Amino acid sequence: TNFHELGLAKQIVATLSQLGYETPTPIQAQAIPLLLQGRDMIGLAQTGTGKTAAFGLPIIEMLLKDGKKPEARSVRALVLAPTRELVNQIAVNLRGFIRKTPLKINTVVGGASINKQQFQLASGSDILVATPGRLLDLINRRAVALDKVTHLVLDEADQMLDLGFIHDLRKISRMVPARRQTLLFSATMPKAIADLAQDYLADPVKVEV
Ligand code: AMP
Repeated sequence: TNFHELGLAKQIVATLSQLGYETPTPIQAQAIPLLLQGRDMIGLAQTGTGKTAAFGLPIIEMLLKDGKKPEARSVRALVLAPTRELVNQIAVNLRGFIRKTPLKINTVVGGASINKQQFQLASGSDILVATPGRLLDLINRRAVALDKVTHLVLDEADQMLDLGFIHDLRKISRMVPARRQTLLFSATMPKAIADLAQDYLADPVKVEV
């Protein structure tokens, strides 16, 4: 299979080709068609399997199709990840996919200027990639609101648990609208993560690579 057969638009497939992505990885082949249908998903996958594109490409496709502009301080797709390094890595990856589109990606991580992040969030984000703690700080400052989120991704959920972010994750999950698509990726599935998935995902498909 190729990316076009998975249901992605020509414009994105052309960008992928320029990035050297010709053949979907197994998780991409499994996940992309289901995510384009709007399904919730639990992905058991390690870094290096191509999971960023597996969730990023269908979300980008759906955001483009929907065609809305983000309102001030609002977010359309929220991606939560455990560390600054991972947030930056995800954002670099996704920015490759959205060049030639009008979409805007912002990042929010601890240890960087919160005022600068507040300024960037003011005009809204099509995609926001964030660590949970700093995101909550910015929510408390009214710099960002999650009431327009249509896609929520919890990446490396087991690592977020290990770093003590479980309460932050639950708080954030309660702030996004009930009508949304939710994806959870984890290398392992301890009970606390299975419980989180049970509480915040609706009839999820399971994809394992
Ligand atoms: P990830 O697991 O998302 O961190 O991706 C691992 C690496 O594989 C990243 O450098 C991606 O750019 C690259 N990659 C992901 N999917 C593909 C693909 N279908 N073809 C070529 N490279 C890919």
